[in-house]
Amino acid sequence: MKPSATLAINELSVKLITEGKEVYRLGFGQSPFPVPDIIVEALKRHAHQKDYLPVQGLLPLRQVVAQFFNRTYHLPVGAENVLVGPGSKELIYNFQVAASFDELLLPSPSWVSYEPQALLSGHKAIWLETQEADGYKLKAKTLLDHCSKHPGKKRVIILNYPSNPLGNTYNELELKDLADVLRQEEIVVIADEIYGEVHHEGRHQTIAKYYPEGTIISTGLSKWAGAGGWRFGIFVFPMALDHIRRAMAVVASETFTSVSAPIQYAAIEAYKEDESLQTYLKHSRRILKAVGHYVYGELTKIGVAMPRPEGGFYLYPNFGKWSMQLESKGIKNSEELCTVLLNETGVALLPGMAFGHPPEYLTARLSYVDFDGKRLLDQFLENPNLEVDPMFVPNNCPKIEKAIKNLTTWLTSL
Ligand code: PLP
Repeated sequence: MKPSATLAINELSVKLITEGKEVYRLGFGQSPFPVPDIIVEALKRHAHQKDYLPVQGLLPLRQVVAQFFNRTYHLPVGAENVLVGPGSKELIYNFQVAASFDELLLPSPSWVSYEPQALLSGHKAIWLETQEADGYKLKAKTLLDHCSKHPGKKRVIILNYPSNPLGNTYNELELKDLADVLRQEEIVVIADEIYGEVHHEGRHQTIAKYYPEGTIISTGLSKWAGAGGWRFGIFVFPMALDHIRRAMAVVASETFTSVSAPIQYAAIEAYKEDESLQTYLKHSRRILKAVGHYVYGELTKIGVAMPRPEGGFYLYPNFGKWSMQLESKGIKNSEELCTVLLNETGVALLPGMAFGHPPEYLTARLSYVDFDGKRLLDQFLENPNLEVDPMFVPNNCPKIEKAIKNLTTWLTSL
């Protein structure tokens, strides 16, 4: 394994900042919003909880998580189907250690950590091709073709939607088509729905609806509740895959033991039905949608291609239109592109090759969270009817506006 391509960008960002240069951190994938007050208060109230908790998670917590899935996604989940861990990332890794399979299938591009985790746990990751015209979403036929060409393998696939790095999501028809092939080929799917609650319209759909017996849902507090640093993740299993849950609980008991006790007590508040959380989510989604569409609009105006933003906080621009000009500057791959962009515009993006795209694709991930989420959220809470007009981003997210201006000026002058 080699150090990640993202490390180089982060190191260069730090170097430029120490030299006094302005850097726009559009490479960073963290929620811009504060943790909702009622969850923070719950954490304070439970700071004294000091005992080790059950490996699978506190029962009242698993019960409210199950109820959350019942009411939000109409899934017949019970407390016994829920396993909590210190971040969904740890759970996805734990899965790869505990489960036995021949191939981990990943649509290209996919989130940066899946493949390294496969390598660390002694598995083989197989990248499945996608097309720009399909928003880089995996087609059921591509999946079927792969399985037909290499029959007899035990397979797992990770589908992440809304997507990091793409910012788009699968619609119901696409989920149904994929579910048909997954069922036919008996593939276990990890549905990484960590951005599900920040679908911009609040209309996230899960593939578990169409393929309940083979789907493990992965989620947590990191993205919708701004609590990445709290380290709290959830896996939801169907009964048919209970043997995997049990194997993962064994791995958990020999590694992280259990999630921090105060965090588990606080998470109970996060999954209860609560109006203030609905309001928090409604405004977070409106803000993310407004910023995402602003950046999308400004970049597509000059010919940068990318999927339309639908959820989460990423965009996946393709700078291929300028490939000849970039080549004459000595730029032949996405990593070189991101390095030059950072040096010459101050804008930090992550190269597409970090997400499994071939290096010569001039794609990158842009994370549009370099703004003061707390201030904006407070504004919406004080004045829920606040207009989101075309001046919303220039007025409220100056670093985003400046970053995009630098980027478009640089591209159009190539
Ligand atoms: N999956 C995706 C697609 C992500 O973007 C992230 C975080 O960046 C994770 C999983 C891991 O989240 P956590 O471990 O904080 O639950």
